[in-house]
Amino acid sequence: MSDKVERIKCLIIGSGPAGYTAAIYAARADMKPVMYTGMEPGGQLTTTTEVDNFPGYPEGVDGPTMMVQLQQQAERFGTEVRIGMVTKVNLSDKVGGIHEVEVDNTTKIEAETVIIATGATAKYLGLPSEQKLRGGGVSACAVCDGFFYKGQDVAIVGGGDTAAEEATYLANICNKVTMLVRKGEMRASKAMQHRVENTPNLEVKYFTEVDEVLGEQVVEGLRVVNNQTGEKEEIAITGLFIAIGHKPNTDIFKGQLDMDDTGYIITHGKSTKTNKPGVFASGDVQDKEYRQAITAAGTGCMAALDAERYLATVESPEEVNA
Ligand code: NDP
Repeated sequence: MSDKVERIKCLIIGSGPAGYTAAIYAARADMKPVMYTGMEPGGQLTTTTEVDNFPGYPEGVDGPTMMVQLQQQAERFGTEVRIGMVTKVNLSDKVGGIHEVEVDNTTKIEAETVIIATGATAKYLGLPSEQKLRGGGVSACAVCDGFFYKGQDVAIVGGGDTAAEEATYLANICNKVTMLVRKGEMRASKAMQHRVENTPNLEVKYFTEVDEVLGEQVVEGLRVVNNQTGEKEEIAITGLFIAIGHKPNTDIFKGQLDMDDTGYIITHGKSTKTNKPGVFASGDVQDKEYRQAITAAGTGCMAALDAERYLATVESPEEVNA
């Protein structure tokens, strides 16, 4: 049996909108991309129901369907989509260097370019009642799901910029928004705090945490607790938004790629270039601000174009496997 290691021109890690868009562009540029899907093929959108804000779907589309269609489009141009988890990388520092990658702790491959599109994972509180009602009124994305609660009463958990921004976004759509902040102050910027304070149908409850999400099939209310007095209270709501932060899926790149202090990959200027030549990052793994399917797709396209241009400047990748 040959122990020759497979050589890939363009490896795409992750299968959300960024990964598939990168795949479509890379395949059409004849880079013969290979994609490893990761543990959650399709990414975060597969946990969403209706996607109403992706251009080109006038009637909306459900998240899983959209991801299947993106996969079909990527495969149509020759992308090889493989189920598997990249578990280790050894990224080269040299221009034209070969990046060594291990999949599922066993298969070794070599890649001339790597497009990272591993996304980020929304944090949840971890309450059993919250987990039970995910998709039944509990959401981690106000911009995706807020519209379904038009004219209704909702609550949002968190005191950071995301929670503040999403609370004001929801206040424009919903009848009333209750914002639950576990400390006596918000972590959000002063400007965002002012926006929250100046929104009439937005009430902030400080020192308040969720005790239980009420409802069997759908959210019917919330029992909250004041963490100073222990006093409990029920609030009637139909939607609960969790905005307590995201964790970028970057563990395997730590120590090799430049990241900010919260673990997001840093890209250079108006590009998807990382600090390693031939390694590009797209989608939520390098974006903690916009985090939309359409912005992820946009940076996926950029990553494929950056990879194509990089390959054009590299005459002949070194033959580590010669
Ligand atoms: P952050 O980590 O900044 O804030 C998370 C918030 O959730 C904090 O208030 C935190 O409380 C709270 N929290 C965490 N865990 C729990 C829990 N178990 N129960 C209740 N509350 C909890 O995350 P964000 O997503 O808000 O922001 C991430 C980064 O992105 C920040 O740097 C932010 O500035 C940036 N950002 C910028 C935007 C902009 O500039 N327009 C928009 C959105 C994000 P505590 O403070 O008590 O720890």
